[in-house]
Amino acid sequence: MTDHAAAPTCLARPPLGPDDSPAGCAAARGVDGRPLHAAALKFFWGPMDCGKSTMALQMNHNHSRQGRRGLVTTRIDRSLGPQVTTRIGLAHEAVEVTDEVDLRALVRDTWAEGVRVDYLICDEASFYNLEHIEQMAELVDSYDVDVYAFGLATDFRSCLFPAAQRLFELADEVARIQVEVLCWCGREGLLNARVVDGRVAREGLQVVIGDTVDNAEVRYQVLCRRHYRAGELGPRG
Ligand SMILES: [Zn+2]
Repeated sequence: MTDHAAAPTCLARPPLGPDDSPAGCAAARGVDGRPLHAAALKFFWGPMDCGKSTMALQMNHNHSRQGRRGLVTTRIDRSLGPQVTTRIGLAHEAVEVTDEVDLRALVRDTWAEGVRVDYLICDEASFYNLEHIEQMAELVDSYDVDVYAFGLATDFRSCLFPAAQRLFELADEVARIQVEVLCWCGREGLLNARVVDGRVAREGLQVVIGDTVDNAEVRYQVLCRRHYRAGELGPRG
């Protein structure tokens, strides 16, 4: 899985321009020769509808304003196109992370075009495969690229997505997104219930595309643990 032959040196990075902020190459180095500045893998998680994609795009905007350059990636965005869309109407072009995509090659190829990549914003990261998560860690450790991953922690059965589990295991920092999504009862929403034919599904494929709108054939509804376990969808269900 580890692609040592293609491991980059700092020289592979495009040079800084006059408007660029200092990045890894200029930083002090540790005894192992690696820059001491802290590139990091961070995982931001929360239930559906809590504003993960909005936060992802906001973070991209904030870094861009500081002169940093990044790439946005996604998988199975609700728009089903190569972009990140948000429920409040924001959109940004994004690289679709299929099984064939190697995130390290994505960065290398972008560098080879003379374009800097200081960070990745990885939306819907719970739907990536395990190799992608390992690639994220390598991008941080060997490429000095920050990786900010956003996604669900648990699936409709309230079990961790494999990619989310790996992010919990590997990330330098894990943060629960603090935008409150409420269950119909007013308690904090925590779990992503899949609703099929008006009932909370307990079995099925881990990933089934649906939305949170009422008229979808398969829809998702965020519930508190009490009502998730009881399968009670409230007045809306
Ligand atoms: Zn509830």
